[in-house]
Amino acid sequence: MRILGIESSCDETGVALVETTGDAWPRLLSHALYSQIEMHQAYGGVVPELASRDHIRRVLPLTRQVMQEAGANLADVDVVAYTRGPGLAGALLVGSGVACALAAAMGKPVLGVHHLEGHLLSPFLSADPPEFPFIALLVSGGHTQLMRVDGVGRYTLLGETIDDAAGEAFDKSAKLMGLPYPGGPGLSRLAEQGNPAAYKLPRPLLHSGDFDFSFAGLKTAVLTQSQKIGPAAHTEGAPERADLAASTQAAIVEVLLKKSMNALKATGMKRLVVAGGVGANRELRTQLNAACAKARVRVHYPELHLCTDNGAMIAMAAAMRLQSGAQTAQARYSFDVKPRWPLHELA
Ligand code: ATP
Ligand code: MG
Ligand code: FE
Repeated sequence: MRILGIESSCDETGVALVETTGDAWPRLLSHALYSQIEMHQAYGGVVPELASRDHIRRVLPLTRQVMQEAGANLADVDVVAYTRGPGLAGALLVGSGVACALAAAMGKPVLGVHHLEGHLLSPFLSADPPEFPFIALLVSGGHTQLMRVDGVGRYTLLGETIDDAAGEAFDKSAKLMGLPYPGGPGLSRLAEQGNPAAYKLPRPLLHSGDFDFSFAGLKTAVLTQSQKIGPAAHTEGAPERADLAASTQAAIVEVLLKKSMNALKATGMKRLVVAGGVGANRELRTQLNAACAKARVRVHYPELHLCTDNGAMIAMAAAMRLQSGAQTAQARYSFDVKPRWPLHELA
């Protein structure tokens, strides 16, 4: 069975084709991605209306490219999957509209996918996929959650952020340092030249005894510290700026690390899956790898280029839901996007 996947929840248009054969994990045949980041950079963040319009421009050319690269025709597609939520309503409507139109034209069924389930299952696209059950640390631009994952669609929320997401903490702190949107990758590059112990920043909820996170206070502390430092906090080449970046990253990474290890210990699980854009962070990976090796825990990540939004994870999640029997695709073409949709509400 061949599944076409379309991602358009935010500022990346992604399209991919995967194939399922028997019980083996679905295989990625091809995928294509267009990032709108440059367009939004002038505004310091994503402008929803511009995002929707650009998805309209990109989605069909990307679909053609995916088909060509896979040596396939639209007629070979058995199911059209799309991101149903969560995300920007207008952006989601483009993906669901196009998916429904293509499917209706071909007389094929559609399947709406949860964007976070896409992130969560993206490590199954790697050469060394995890096995169920595992603990998942989902760290993206809009979410920070620890989940217990017992199988496809079997997700138990252990804890989540009560305010900002880890990606937001990276992005907002980076903005204070004068780095372009989204600041996570730039901040982590800058941090490599700085001293992570230079500034004392809070580790919110580190000892709370639960699996919740909070990053809003950290952002305020970074603001206060940058005001104390003065212009050097956002001046290119200033050592203080690199020190601030390193100290910020150290605070975020320490909390993510400690809570993940606590969750593993509390549940007795021996496998950790890290997913979402912040999962690309090198310092986080280095520290998690070391802690997991010590605790004899296997840790899995998506391939670096599949940490942030992409179509491959949407096609993959759809394929895994179909394969596991968690869901069936329907020839019902309603544009029922869900801009707000907690993952644990997914049946
Ligand atoms: P969500 O999936 O919650 O709806 P999103 O789709 O915007 O949000 P992702 O695409 O998963 O989020 O990830 C984007 C986030 O990842 C941004 O906040 C970005 O700064 C962050 N990010 C990407 N690479 C890195 C990195 N190397 N270090 C830290 N953060 C990073
Ligand atoms: Mg993005
Ligand atoms: Fe995402």
